[in-house]
Parts: sequence; structure tokens; C-alpha cells
Amino acid sequence: MNSSTKYDPKSSKAEEFINHQEILETLDYAEKNRENFELIDAIIEKARKKKGISHREASVLLACQDEERNEQIFKLAREIKREFYGSRIVMFAPLYLSNYCVNGCLYCPYHLKNKHIPRKKLTQEEIRREVTALQDMGHKRLALETGEDPANNPIEYVLESIKTIYSIKHKNGAIRRVNVNIAATTEENYRKLKEAGIGTYILFQETYHRESYERLHPTGPKHNYCYHTEAMDRAMTAGIDDVGIGVLFGLELYKYEFAGLLMHAEHLEARFGVGPHTSVPRVKKADDIDPDEFDNGIDDDTFAKIVALIRVAVPYTGMIISTRESAKCRERLLNLGISQISGGSRTSVGGYAEEEPEDESSAQFDVSDSRTLDQVVRWLMELGYIPSFCTACYREGRTGDRFMSLLKSGQIGNCCHPNALMTLKEYLEDYASEETRKLGDQLIEKEILNVPSERVREILRKNLKAIAEGRRDFRF
Ligand code: SF4
Ligand code: SF4
Repeated sequence: MNSSTKYDPKSSKAEEFINHQEILETLDYAEKNRENFELIDAIIEKARKKKGISHREASVLLACQDEERNEQIFKLAREIKREFYGSRIVMFAPLYLSNYCVNGCLYCPYHLKNKHIPRKKLTQEEIRREVTALQDMGHKRLALETGEDPANNPIEYVLESIKTIYSIKHKNGAIRRVNVNIAATTEENYRKLKEAGIGTYILFQETYHRESYERLHPTGPKHNYCYHTEAMDRAMTAGIDDVGIGVLFGLELYKYEFAGLLMHAEHLEARFGVGPHTSVPRVKKADDIDPDEFDNGIDDDTFAKIVALIRVAVPYTGMIISTRESAKCRERLLNLGISQISGGSRTSVGGYAEEEPEDESSAQFDVSDSRTLDQVVRWLMELGYIPSFCTACYREGRTGDRFMSLLKSGQIGNCCHPNALMTLKEYLEDYASEETRKLGDQLIEKEILNVPSERVREILRKNLKAIAEGRRDFRF
């Protein structure tokens, strides 16, 4: 990279909005100030306003080793999480369409050269079976996953699959929101995805460090760092105003990735006025992949601090964690900032309709949390959370900045909260075990009282009764 490239969060060029020099200076600044308690206290004070802090400020807090101040950061993250997201946790499931891939990513078993795994691409009929199985579990929100392969998984295949998924109505089931995680593509293809009615477009950066990026992606179209890093700009220009970014922690130094991730969020906010959702995966074991090969693994405490600081730095961001992480780890992270989790996930192609083989050699990564959706729902409720299957914003056209304005208007108590309770009630009626249902009904009774508006409370009670009598699909 040209060392004279300047940092510009509003630029459309990857090298300028994720500027290597700026990250290095940020890390240096953070290191020098890690014991500057006056500065650290001032940043924490600013963060208490709950309007976010910059990547530089957040990096100083990340470098801070003072126990008492770190405790303040965790406490603040919990407060922000409560204020913006309440106790709701949105549920989703990944759906793997195809593991054909022409890329050579060193950390993923689907890389082109891995000859141990069977390659599979779901037919539309097989997708129907998968989605029926997911609906029978109670899922309403999916994240489509597919490798990059223009011959086997062209955009037409993805579009057809989305159409198939939205068309399946099985018993009381329906997939109401399809998020899509496919390789970086053209503006024209993003426009097609938008027209197909996708929810969020998700693309992980994997690593923001260009040299490492190119080394970890030695072959295939994904090798092109700039094309990949500028993908969200093309998606947003094409009208997709709901995007999700993330890094794969463990590939590069976490401090570098953390600054890069926040700079990416700042860039999208500066250029398009809409912040992204964020995901926080860590490298995991899989066929042909040993996470120890990457020597930048992070321990659970550092991981927790990263989650807390993303919540503090970007208070409104939806934050997602997958079944890569164990139940214990997910429990710890939930109240620090996570707003969305997957449950009952299968990470192989066709894994819902058919049992995954014991060794899971065809899975993209080992699932640490292998509980069923019913168990995850019950577990969340036992911890005091409200599992939510809400997709109302997407269906009301409240995405991007309109979704943000809902969050910022303070109306979530009269909107997200009752929606969460109604969708939970649907889940309890249609899919839950006896034990889960009992617990859920008690929780709903208690939580109705937390809806601020009396009028909304009244409508909510009426709708809950209607759901118990068999009617479906209410929303605020
Ligand atoms: Fe292919 Fe994605 Fe795996 Fe890379 S991470 S090998 S692009 S499926
Ligand atoms: Fe999310 Fe909108 Fe539902 Fe609230 S109402 S939980 S923001 S989809």
C-alpha cells in the first residue's frame, strides 16, 4: 500500500476508509495512553452519554488494563444493552445452500483444494425440505450461506432459492425474513437481491489487515482485498440499507481488527448515514482446519471485552453470535451486548432435513452449542431474556435509517417489546415443549406489564388471546 494514502472515512476507496496508517497510529496512541487514567476516565464519561465513541477512543479503552475501569466499561455495556435492546434476544438459524467454492480461504473447510468433504448444492426441492424442517422447529428468520462459485451458485440460483423459501407455508410456519451471506458481488447483483426482498446482507471482512488478508486468501476472486472491502458500499449504493459486517477473530491481532471493524462502521455511517450490524465469530476447528495454525486466538476475557466495547462504541448496532461459541460463553456475552443468536443450528449443507453425521466432517465449523431451539429458548427465558422471533420492521419496510429512528425514538418498549411477546407466544403455541410453554406463558404475563403505553398493552392482550385461539401474524 502507498504509505501516503490518506485516511478519509467518507471515501469510497478501501485504502482510505480502512487506512492502514491510521490503524497503526491508533494502536500506538492506545498503547501510549493505556495508563493515562485522566484520558480513560474522560472517554468513559463520553461513552456514558450513549452516543458512541470513536475507534481511537475505543482502542484506548481496549488497551486499558485497570481492573476497576474495565469493570466500569462492562457495567456501561450492560446498561446500554438494556436500554436499547431490553431483555429481548432475536432468534435466527443459518441455512447452508451450497458448499461449492472457488476460493482458497485458509481457515475454511469449503476451500477449493479440500478434497475430503463431499460437495453438495441443494436443489429447490431439497431447500423445501430444509425450510420445512426449520419451520417445524419454529424459526422465522434465516441467514442463507453459500460458497462463491459462479458456475454452481450463480446469483440466479440464490434468487430462485430466496423465492422458494418465502413461498413455503407449512402448517403455521413461515420464513418471514431471509438474510443473505454471499460473496462480494456487483452493484447490479445487489440490486437484484434487494428486489428479491432480502433482510440483511451479511459479508464478513475476515481480516482488515491487507497483507494478512491476501495471504489468507491466496486464490480465487476473494483474494481481491479492495473489491471485498468495498462490497458494502456497492450494496448500499444499490439500495440495501441493512448490512452486517464482522471479522473472524483469531486470524490477525485483535486490536488491529477491532479498530478496523469500528472504522468500517464509522465509514458506512459517514457515507450512507446508516450503521451496520456486527458479528463476532472466532476461528473454530473444522475439517482440514486447525485453529492453532493461526496464532492470534483470543481468550474468553478479551473476547468479552471486545463485545462490551463494540456495544459501547456503536450503541445501536445489532450484535450477533453463533453456535460456534459454547453455551457458557454465549451466556456471558448476552448481557454485554449480543442482541441476536442462532439456535438449533446445522452448519452443513442439508443438515436440517437429514441428521448430520457424527463426525460433522462436512460442516463449515464445529458447533459448540448443539442444543435444540426449544432448549435454547427455555435457557434464555430461565436467564430472564425474552426470545423474540420478530421480523416486524423488515415487513413494515422499517429498515436502515427508519429502523434506527425507531430505536432512537425510544418507542422500542411499545414496539419491539410487544412484538417479541407476540412472536414468542406463537412459538410457544406451535412448537414448544410443555415445560417451555409453561415457563413462556408465565414470562409473557409478567412482561406485559413492562409495555409503557396502556393502549398498546390492551391491544397486546387482545392479540395474545387471538394467538392462543389459533390466529397468527400480528405486529406493531
Ligand atoms: Fe468459500 Fe466462504 Fe469458505 Fe472462503 S469462507 S472457502 S469464500 S465458503
Ligand atoms: Fe427488531 Fe423491529 Fe422487531 Fe423491534 S420491531 S424487534 S427493531 S424487527
